[in-house]
Amino acid sequence: MPILYRIIPKLTKHGKISNIGILPCKEKIVETKLNVVLLAHTPNPEATIAMAAKLCYSPSDIGSLKNKIAARDQKGFVEKLMKMGHMSPIEHASFTFAVEGISRACSHQLVRHRLASYSQQSQRYVSEEGGFDYVIPETIKGNAELEKYFIDFMEKAQKAYNHIVGKLNKKGITGEAANQDARFVLPNAAETKIMITMNARELLHFFRQRCCNRAQWEIRAMAIEMLKRVKDISPTVFAGSGPGCVSGPCPEGEYSCGKAVEVREKFKKFR
Ligand SMILES: Cc1cc2nc3c(=O)[nH]c(=O)nc-3n(C[C@H](O)[C@H](O)[C@H](O)COP(=O)(O)OP(=O)(O)OC[C@H]3O[C@@H](n4cnc5c(N)ncnc54)[C@H](O)[C@@H]3O)c2cc1C
Repeated sequence: MPILYRIIPKLTKHGKISNIGILPCKEKIVETKLNVVLLAHTPNPEATIAMAAKLCYSPSDIGSLKNKIAARDQKGFVEKLMKMGHMSPIEHASFTFAVEGISRACSHQLVRHRLASYSQQSQRYVSEEGGFDYVIPETIKGNAELEKYFIDFMEKAQKAYNHIVGKLNKKGITGEAANQDARFVLPNAAETKIMITMNARELLHFFRQRCCNRAQWEIRAMAIEMLKRVKDISPTVFAGSGPGCVSGPCPEGEYSCGKAVEVREKFKKFR
């Protein structure tokens, strides 16, 4: 997509308009794609988890414990912990993701997970006058008439947003004060960017709920990308991670998708 630039005008002290800079400005509003980046994580997460658990059971001082942990691969020990259900040590490993290309409909579901930290791009401080991006569901994309209808609606929402900002500006209501009210006309499809930090225990819970076929497709796609990334870093903790049926019988009862065998196969391949 070509990026255009918008001249930012400013009134000089003599009342004349001067151009003070340029900001990137989209040519038009566009569809966007999911991008999940693992930004940071606890270094040696499995050694940190092993240290936390060993400290519970050992009379040794911290220095000796650290040396013991460093000297041996802790895979077997971490596996044993998880089997026993001694889960609090795994809370000491945390993972920070940056995600873009998701809709506000998706982020709204995400932030229901309370044992996490979030920083989300603000619709108050960030103006959408240059054009908001949006997510189109596949069911709509597969139908030419619906897709056109959808995109026309996005463009109407953009026009309404810009119209409201323009009118508010004329009344002297500018910047975040204008954005925060104009955003009421932005759709759930509007793209957002968010940073997420979760510890490993919360991630296991999140993946169990959101990698499941019962979860909504967009948050499921995001959760699966997150799982792939943490599995690289912490293969023991996340070995059996995914929807509930990956590590046992399907917990969804009458709502089960009935595809446990194929789901287990799919998640095994992420190893
Ligand atoms: C398929 C699906 C459909 C859904 N449909 C709806 C819906 O129709 N409407 C709706 O409102 N939501 C819906 N949700 C969201 C759901 O109700 C939860 O809000 C969301 O999944 C977060 O789950 P959680 O509370 O277990 O997780 P988290 O907030 O991540 O918490 C993790 C765990 O910590 C513990 N915990 C956290 N906070 C507390 C607390 N205050 N008190 C006690 N224990 C706590 C619980 O054991 C909890 O399971 C749906 C979720 C899914 C996966």
